[in-house]
Amino acid sequence: MGLVQKVLMKDLLIGLRRTVTYNYQKAITMQYPKEKWTPYPRFRGVIRLTHDEEGNLKCIACGMCARACPVGCITVKTEGKGKERKLVDFVIDFGVCLFCGLCVEACPVKGKAIEMTSYYEAATYDRNEMIFDINKLQADYKAWERSFKK
Ligand code: SF4
Ligand code: SF4
Repeated sequence: MGLVQKVLMKDLLIGLRRTVTYNYQKAITMQYPKEKWTPYPRFRGVIRLTHDEEGNLKCIACGMCARACPVGCITVKTEGKGKERKLVDFVIDFGVCLFCGLCVEACPVKGKAIEMTSYYEAATYDRNEMIFDINKLQADYKAWERSFKK
């Protein structure tokens, strides 16, 4: 056997040994959706609007988050002017969202009126379902997640 053949045979055996070893090892892939991944604390999942102690939305309808959003997927709909300014609707298109978190950083409200959650199961076949309005953005995502499993 020439030198070239010896080298090739050695490489082949190394490759085969690795394949056989992996075949008898415990699989490290997660069997989703039966198994769920626990996100890291700083994971940026689906966004939610937050409430104060009385259960009111903290949002003051300033629009800073919408201006900070690099893809313009936030729409803050308001009514009235000055102190009479009221939040009418708050819409995020998660089909466009980058989950960058800049909207949360831009929010001037103490304790933040908008937050990233650890919820990540928002995949759908219908793009329209990825547009969340003010009601959907206050959903209890954990309960929602459970309702999907029924
Ligand atoms: S996470 Fe980023 S892309 Fe998504 S709404 Fe906020 S600013 Fe926009
Ligand atoms: S920046 Fe905060 S307070 Fe202002 S509109 Fe967005 S969520 Fe509401």
